[in-house]
Amino acid sequence: MKIGFIGLGNMGAPMALNLLKAGHVLNVFDLNSESVQTLVRAGATATVSPGVAVTGVECVITMLPAAAHVKSVLTGEDGVLGAVPEGVFIIDCSTIDPATVKAMAQAAEAHGSVFVDAPVSGGTGGAMAGTLTFMVGASAAAFEKVRPLLQVMGKNIVHCGETSTGQVAKICNNLVLGITMAGVSEAMALGEALGIDANVLAGIINTSTGRCWSSDTYNPFPGVLDSAPSSRGYTGGFGTDLMLKDLGLATDAAKFARQPAYLGALSQQLYQTLSARGEGRLDFSAVINLYRREQPVAQQS
Ligand code: NAD
Repeated sequence: MKIGFIGLGNMGAPMALNLLKAGHVLNVFDLNSESVQTLVRAGATATVSPGVAVTGVECVITMLPAAAHVKSVLTGEDGVLGAVPEGVFIIDCSTIDPATVKAMAQAAEAHGSVFVDAPVSGGTGGAMAGTLTFMVGASAAAFEKVRPLLQVMGKNIVHCGETSTGQVAKICNNLVLGITMAGVSEAMALGEALGIDANVLAGIINTSTGRCWSSDTYNPFPGVLDSAPSSRGYTGGFGTDLMLKDLGLATDAAKFARQPAYLGALSQQLYQTLSARGEGRLDFSAVINLYRREQPVAQQS
């Protein structure tokens, strides 16, 4: 299938590589020329704008930082909607707010295309391994059409309901993630201050009731897990500013629904503090730096 892929960052690049490996033909676009060149070396065609990237394609995939980027890539000058062929599915895998999804779905419909929200979980490791979970908001018919393509990049492809429910699922999941990462950080730093070995403590937590993804797969304490960003100076992974954005989406949605979000609001302030210290581009597990007495050397990517 000929696909226009826009947004080749930490997540988009490995997702696009998996599509190429599966034999799909890709037009790619990103503002960062280095990311584009990585994909070109793997067989993709570089393009000069979102509009050119989607000319003549059978499907469009976007993987961008936030709602403003999705809006500008779709509706801006030389954007997707002005050039995409009729009937084509535009699958947005970015994490954005449900209201923007609905606005983009309407705009796409007016241009004869179909917008599907399909945010992901599984991190950069899942993107590389092709094992992401996709949370899809779409009609049942649209879901069946896009499912085979998503299966190339993911393991669990879940139909959450109508348009924008994929984002609802994603926002709720990341609310849990932001809170649990702060909780594990608090506990690991307390353990360090009280003199227990970090590996011993992590081992106990991971075989006890405190176990969670933030402790057993992505532990924030350096050296506990070689594969976690904490063991490489908090580079790569899921940026603090992206987590801050997602907690903002959750607290905004809670305000709209008149639902309390006590822990969401508190953890949002933790990531906000980290970002204000100039560490917003570090992986979000660097939140442990707010707790540790001797700051590890943090490298900005
Ligand atoms: P990223 O910042 O690494 O990549 C975003 C890419 O979009 C960059 O390469 C950037 O140059 C490009 N871009 C920005 N504006 C653009 C524009 N106008 N036109 C073309 N390209 C543009 O972000 P990421 O980590 O890949 O995350 C992407 C999305 O996926 C975010 O919404 C994030 O919340 C979500 N997400 C990330 C992770 C993760 O672990 N990193 C996990 C799940 C979901």
